[in-house]
Amino acid sequence: MAFIIVDDCNLCDKCVDPCPNDAITEGDDIYIIDPEKCTECVGFFDVPQCADVCPVDACITDEDRVESEADLLERARALHPGKEIPDDAPSHFRA
Ligand code: SF4
Ligand code: SF4
Repeated sequence: MAFIIVDDCNLCDKCVDPCPNDAITEGDDIYIIDPEKCTECVGFFDVPQCADVCPVDACITDEDRVESEADLLERARALHPGKEIPDDAPSHFRA
């Protein structure tokens, strides 16, 4: 599952820098997550960083976009071709 940002977003900007994939940008009314860049932080952190820092719990899982840990690891590697991301890299699936 990629994460999505819901209408509760207050544009505080706290989630942008912690995202390891630069997946979050400012939209017209709320911030938005590019699902093609979101790995649920798999490959980098045990806890999805946007959800962890959001003060209003506006970053939630997108139940319409279920993805496996293997798929998310593959995405992380594709997004960071110069970085070694092992099979046991940090992941909320195993936290
Ligand atoms: S879950 Fe992680 S990778 Fe996805 S948007 Fe949030 S901080 Fe970025
Ligand atoms: S941390 Fe939460 S409230 Fe702040 S910009 Fe990100 S989604 Fe919006």
